[in-house]
Amino acid sequence: MTSTVLLLPRNGLRRLMAPNAGTSGAIKFKRSSTDDLMLLSYVKIGEAGYQVTLAPKTHRINQGEAGGDGLWFQAPVELHGWWYELVRRGDQFGVPRDEFAKRLPKPLTDPGALGYVVLTYAPGAEFPPYDVTPIPTFAAWWVTRDGVFGVSVAVEPAEVGTGQLAAHWPIDDLAKTTVMVVGVGSIGGAAVTALAGYGVGRLLLVDPDRLMWHNLIRHVLPDRHVGHFKVDALREHLADQRSDTRIVPYRYDVVDDAHEIRGLLSATDIVLCCADGVAPRRTVSHLARRAGKPAVLACVLADGGVGEIIRLRPFPDHGCLLCRRQALIDDGTLDPEPALEAGYGTGTLHQPMTAVGSDLSLVGDLAAKITTATALETAGHYAHRLPGEQLTIALQARRGWTGPFDLGYTGNARWASAIAPPREDCPTCGKP
Ligand SMILES: [Zn+2]
Repeated sequence: MTSTVLLLPRNGLRRLMAPNAGTSGAIKFKRSSTDDLMLLSYVKIGEAGYQVTLAPKTHRINQGEAGGDGLWFQAPVELHGWWYELVRRGDQFGVPRDEFAKRLPKPLTDPGALGYVVLTYAPGAEFPPYDVTPIPTFAAWWVTRDGVFGVSVAVEPAEVGTGQLAAHWPIDDLAKTTVMVVGVGSIGGAAVTALAGYGVGRLLLVDPDRLMWHNLIRHVLPDRHVGHFKVDALREHLADQRSDTRIVPYRYDVVDDAHEIRGLLSATDIVLCCADGVAPRRTVSHLARRAGKPAVLACVLADGGVGEIIRLRPFPDHGCLLCRRQALIDDGTLDPEPALEAGYGTGTLHQPMTAVGSDLSLVGDLAAKITTATALETAGHYAHRLPGEQLTIALQARRGWTGPFDLGYTGNARWASAIAPPREDCPTCGKP
């Protein structure tokens, strides 16, 4: 019994499972002694030898130290039943070498003083009744003069990535979805990560900023990206983690480069704005409305006290962000963005956010959820309908706020329909 785990790459196993593979051959391993890990790295089938690697190719054991030679055999399912007893049940004792060897198609060579690894393939384990029991198709053994001991194996699955979710999650529709994320700071970086986790197929990232040291306390990106453009760094960061999502970076400022954004919107299904500041939010509201696309706007208000996510939809009876904010003012409630109507550049200088990074991530995650649900609803998955068009959540509740921000307790969340009709003179909702 050993604590070593042997990783078996799918591309190697496919060779052994081929109809013309024969019943035995040589194999080689890589080894990483620091984590007691081995990798099948070479298989010999007849006269041909094949290098095999684990996906992703960058996995460091692919470049690991040479871990020795061994043999592979086809074997009866009975032998794998033994392996199950030894490894899964933690049996300390091995099996006698002659009993083991009797069940192999060819004689075993002398293991010498050091021993060697044998990989066995039991094709019969794929068929009933074994496919409903935990008898594995592949097993590994440490053959010594004192006996044969089970070695734990981990088989790389045929399918990795978001495709694994297909039975329980509408991954096919999401894989066809394009979301534009405007602003990939602390909220946007978390939202991008979550959107990729939901399986959104394509993300257009729009942000002109570079990652700087003061961002690190709140941002999903690690310090090795300091100085890089956030959009590029996020693409690199997620390439390892969520390779099924295609990330297209644009170092645009949504306000200054509005014309470029307009061009990208025709290929976008939904826009998520996580940029803080009045001008980008107003610009996204305007451009999305004019392009006939839904938009989700996420922000943190009141110095990190409350998170707010608004959904804007290009329906005739739904006003834009400005129309909705005006309705709040007309109702005599709090105006959370008093500078919204002010011209760009006339406001105060950007104040660094006082919210803590995990609160911003929480808002980013919720924004990604609402964006994903909107895409699914649009694709006809009505189970993903949301209860309203505005979600507010208290991150650090303070007494005395007026509606819709009077949440009372930290963690309170509230949905509101929050729809306001388009104003007649609205430059966004009115006729162009
Ligand atoms: Zn409007």
